[in-house]
Amino acid sequence: MNKPAELAELGGKAGLTLDTVPVWVDGKPISSAKRFGEVFNPATGRATRRVVFSDASLVDAAVKAATAAFPAWRDTPPLRRARVMQEFLSLLKKNQKELAAIVTEEHGKTLPDAMGSVQRGIEVVEFACGIPHLLKGEYAENVGTQVDTHTVRQPVGVCAGITPFNFPVMVPLWMFPMAIACGNTFILKPSEKVPSASVRMAELFQQAGLPDGVLNVLHGDKEAVDGLLTHPGIHAVSFVGSTPIAKYIYETCAKHGKRVQALGGAKNHAVVLPDADLEFAADALIGAAYGSAGERCMAISAVVAVGAAGDPLVKLLEKKASAIRVGAGDAPGVDMGPLVTCQHRDKVAGYVEAGVKEGAKLVLDGRAQKVPREGFFLGTTLFDHVKPQMSIYKDEIFGPVLVVLRAETLEEAIALVNRNPYANGTAIFTESGGAARRFENEIQVGMVGVNVPIPVPVAFFSFGGWKSSLFGDLHVHGVESVKFYTRTKVVTTRWPHQDTPAPGFHMPTLG
Ligand code: NAD
Repeated sequence: MNKPAELAELGGKAGLTLDTVPVWVDGKPISSAKRFGEVFNPATGRATRRVVFSDASLVDAAVKAATAAFPAWRDTPPLRRARVMQEFLSLLKKNQKELAAIVTEEHGKTLPDAMGSVQRGIEVVEFACGIPHLLKGEYAENVGTQVDTHTVRQPVGVCAGITPFNFPVMVPLWMFPMAIACGNTFILKPSEKVPSASVRMAELFQQAGLPDGVLNVLHGDKEAVDGLLTHPGIHAVSFVGSTPIAKYIYETCAKHGKRVQALGGAKNHAVVLPDADLEFAADALIGAAYGSAGERCMAISAVVAVGAAGDPLVKLLEKKASAIRVGAGDAPGVDMGPLVTCQHRDKVAGYVEAGVKEGAKLVLDGRAQKVPREGFFLGTTLFDHVKPQMSIYKDEIFGPVLVVLRAETLEEAIALVNRNPYANGTAIFTESGGAARRFENEIQVGMVGVNVPIPVPVAFFSFGGWKSSLFGDLHVHGVESVKFYTRTKVVTTRWPHQDTPAPGFHMPTLG
């Protein structure tokens, strides 16, 4: 398996000029830094750019810019803010192909898949354009004699968003348009593996009329993240990434008095009942397991085949998984691209090895398939007769590896899913309304599909899992996101005139 090319070799021998991906602070790019990271094209295995790694002074500069921009943006009428959002929306649509191409180049997923993910992000911006309606408060007249009460929703202040590598456009769009439409200012720290799309979106937002300082983009690793989590100028943090880091973000933010929502990793199960249309279920599972090379937090990575569904389902999965065409994401006719880095590809291949050692039945071996020699490719793997104690079931592999477990009954399948610590998404395949209803009612998972393998809610619902897949209370986008990015103030009002009763000495009951 090939290793990533050295930066020096690229810049020198190949005669290429490496672009630097800058941070974006107060409406301007900054390319100078003490530390840089490398950005790879996973389909070639070569470093293509370097990215600024932010230190405490860059974090401070971004917080200063966001803090300075906050009062005017907060007081900008919501309708005017929404007009800037509408302009941003139209620029995103105009540049959708370019953004998708950046996603493919830095993440590796196929262009159609990248286009779809950018589209899902754009839908959040469409929702954010209508936010003025959701910022309205409540009013009650005469809660006491000549006393009225109303509520207002106010932005929380400077917010930060820290995002993973697997959706370089969509996941940032879950956060900053919502926060900004609510009147906050924002600092985005995307994954250092896929930094370019975020800077491009910041440029487009500026072009749309967003005042400088309202959206800032920092890059980097733990140093940048810790700088944000501990900075007293940040009021709320949204995070999407792996479970150990989500837990760390949640705990650190809580310690520093910040509002936090931290979405973590997943092991998503699909339960297939014997009465299901198995051809339909297998087609759905193939896309859900191997699409985006399994690097989706809502990917189906475990199938629970119930009773007689098992053998015919595994046969269908094997046939369909071996037909998947692996190659560069921008090449025509390719179904599945590479994994994001060399290290991650090797880690996923290591799980295939572990599964064999643990005694699972290896139906299809991704390591043995013909894939392009350059780049971080791995074929599709399918395991059968997997047991709950095996690492290939317990761990989130985040690659093109699908494991099949067997259960005798629906009850047994539900108990298995509910024992798993992750609880992001799940699906059931059946033709029985009663079985589907029972599943929906008893399953301890945040997002549920009935004959829908990846039940990602549309933008006007909220997205989020349960248990180890979410630390915090409120989910992203939709109405829950408006709650996360605003605080409610309750105002009680009395305008005394000649008939107004005098204020009392004891606990007022306002009756
Ligand atoms: P990750 O947790 O490694 O990184 C996420 C972010 O945290 C990045 O911006 C990274 O720079 C930062 N980070 C990494 N290590 C850190 C540390 N020690 N301290 C502080 N910050 C740190 O996740 P990833 O590998 O980029 O993304 C894949 C993971 O994200 C998977 O577990 C996947 O399930 C999860 N994910 C979850 C959802 C969801 O909605 N629940 C969506 C997408 C991805």
